[in-house]
Amino acid sequence: MTSPVPESVPVSPAPASAVSSHWPRHRAGATLRIDLDAIAANYRLVRDRLTPRTTCAAVVKADAYGLGLAQVAPALQRAGAEHFYVAHLEEGIALRPHVTPATRIFVLHGPLPGTEEEFTAHGLTPVLNSIEQIAGWRALARRQDRVLPAVIQLDTGMSRFGLSMDDVRAIADDAGLLAGITPDLIISHLACADTPRDPANAQQRARLLDMAALLPAAPMALSASSGIFLGPDYHFDMVRPGAALYGIAPNEDGPNPLRPVVRLSARILQVRDIAAGDGVGYGLTYRASGPRRIATIGAGYADGCLRQGASHGAAWFGETRLPILGRISMDSITIDITDVPAGALGPDMAVDLLGPQHDVDAAARAAGTIGYEILTSLGHRYHRTYVAGG
Ligand SMILES: *Cc1c(COP(=O)(O)O)cnc(C)c1O
Repeated sequence: MTSPVPESVPVSPAPASAVSSHWPRHRAGATLRIDLDAIAANYRLVRDRLTPRTTCAAVVKADAYGLGLAQVAPALQRAGAEHFYVAHLEEGIALRPHVTPATRIFVLHGPLPGTEEEFTAHGLTPVLNSIEQIAGWRALARRQDRVLPAVIQLDTGMSRFGLSMDDVRAIADDAGLLAGITPDLIISHLACADTPRDPANAQQRARLLDMAALLPAAPMALSASSGIFLGPDYHFDMVRPGAALYGIAPNEDGPNPLRPVVRLSARILQVRDIAAGDGVGYGLTYRASGPRRIATIGAGYADGCLRQGASHGAAWFGETRLPILGRISMDSITIDITDVPAGALGPDMAVDLLGPQHDVDAAARAAGTIGYEILTSLGHRYHRTYVAGG
């Protein structure tokens, strides 16, 4: 049940450097409960699908998909992760103090011009995506007079990041282009892995093998969360799940095997009774067809409750669905609580916006988006609790 605001066990409060501010419960309009045990269980569930040949890295870009890098990364490390991916250099620097010195941190975007030294200074390994990035890394190896490791990304069909076939041929023709660089991993990324039947998956896999054959031999990696569920042909030497760790379904085939990780409970700020014909919210886009009991709750689009999700969205009280009425405001949402027995819900009690009846994927469907966007949109005005050790 959802009332009052759920209890949970706070662990290791965020250090002052944490990206998110954590509002005290009594001052916050909503509570975001993040289950670190579920993240660890999802990591192990994914890893257990792999043979010992394949390493399971963890992707913690975008503040661990909005859930808090400082808490999530150590939890993944305790579950066994020794390799992490972030997108930006800044994220790699932020991650470094939260993992052991031996942990490898890969930065997907690679070095921006002039940032190469900062990678070695912080113990970060770049993903090199272009001939220019390779040249910058080679120059650093020469300046530091040592051999530097790097990941090389190949564009096998997504046209987003990585070396083209022409770039790979240029390297095959001139080994000097990689002077001073040890490629310790060759990666690519699938465009359509969430659609297992899409022929692009096998085409990208074949292209990876063709392109890698022209380069110095190195371990290979192709799959993020959805790709892992395409089966062992897609596992190679390393996989790099993000979304699956945070409970997002890898595809729409069958039930989601992953444990839900977040629960978002919003506080009821005010309750009122309205009559037939009364309008609700900006634009008065909802008009009551009869008497309704409605509640205003303390989270809005500034907190990541996407405005687009209003018409199909709902909050939940236990198993009772409470439809959103009218538009979502910046700081509040109005919901219909007529179906809840009188007196069961009132000011200062909580309803779920994300929870057992309504997971991240369901919220995404209601808003016409994907679970990734729901998680990474979560705001910083919540009281956050991290559950661990259960
Ligand atoms: C974001 C990202 C991942 C993780 O993807 P998920 O779908 O969240 O598992 C892996 N690899 C690359 C290159 C990425 O950009």
